[in-house]
Amino acid sequence: MFNDLKGKRVLITGSTAGMGLAAARLFAKYGARVGVNSHIDTGAAEAVAALQALGAEADFFQANLMQTADCEKLVAAFVVRFGGLDVLINNAGGLGGRAALEQVDDTFYDRVMNLNVRSALMTTKYAIPHLRASAAASGETSSVISTGSIAAREGGGVGAGIYAGAKAWVHDVHRNWVKEFTKDRIRFNIVSPGTIDTAFHDGKSDELRAKIAASIPMGRFGRIEEVAPTFLFFASHACSGYITGQVMDVNGGQIAP
Ligand code: NAD
Repeated sequence: MFNDLKGKRVLITGSTAGMGLAAARLFAKYGARVGVNSHIDTGAAEAVAALQALGAEADFFQANLMQTADCEKLVAAFVVRFGGLDVLINNAGGLGGRAALEQVDDTFYDRVMNLNVRSALMTTKYAIPHLRASAAASGETSSVISTGSIAAREGGGVGAGIYAGAKAWVHDVHRNWVKEFTKDRIRFNIVSPGTIDTAFHDGKSDELRAKIAASIPMGRFGRIEEVAPTFLFFASHACSGYITGQVMDVNGGQIAP
């Protein structure tokens, strides 16, 4: 089904763990060449080894995407290594902590916004020339896929308002980029997870996890392997060449669009 991904050069930010790592594994399985990224090297060697064990060409690129200079450095290093870029997945992100509105200060605001907004904005900015070149050379489309969130639609939990707003920003800026770059045959789509069982939910008590699970029509958290195929669907020209500017919810029915 995803056979046209063979040989594609795919950069996945935030991919040493969680959904990014699951997506990296599935891209590797279908023969893509994969760039793994994190701000720290914990788990990086294991992640790359797992992709190589699947027969894929893969490498790790350490870059803290909360900083614009690192976003630029990441794209440049990936292109030197793989000779171009066909698919960018902006997956790095996270809650960055919780703060009630009256406790929000500049440090907290900057942390959440840099992690979720600056990372996607600046990595995409530096990727655009390479994605444009990829589409021109292949005659197909190239692709930007960002990880959004159910929080972008429903506002997030108490203390997570800036995170929810940051993800809503990512959802919306994709619609703007569709207007600017469709002429270059670059597609922009969002994978919007609900509640997925990753380190994102570390620190939640069993009681709270059970309460959240009960609020989901499917009655459980999602698994990272249940999110990964959606990234491949949007990356594959054969599967989604006429789809851009869309948000795909992967949330066990937790919220309807
Ligand atoms: P995770 O914590 O398991 O993985 C996050 C990855 O990003 C790790 O590899 C981490 O090292 C990396 N990372 C963190 N900060 C970084 C930085 N500054 N620069 C580069 N890499 C960095 O998280 P996850 O749950 O798989 O989350 C992935 C994405 O999904 C995030 O954007 C998150 O906001 C979003 N999301 C998660 C859920 C959920 O329920 N887990 C729900 C909706 C959206």
